[in-house]
Amino acid sequence: MVEADVAARRSVRSVPCRHCHSPAFSPCTSNGKPLTKSPAHPVRVDDAFAAMAASAT
Ligand SMILES: [Zn+2]
Repeated sequence: MVEADVAARRSVRSVPCRHCHSPAFSPCTSNGKPLTKSPAHPVRVDDAFAAMAASAT
């Protein structure tokens, strides 16, 4: 499901990142620079999926 994947990637940024402390709707950063190799830190993806699961039910 490509559409779901796009939505998931978008929603990843709807939560703050616990790893780099990037606020919601801001990209993850590493050493002050936006990540280039991945859309977000894994922990942020986990949090986003948890938030989606919570809002979906
Ligand atoms: Zn991050």
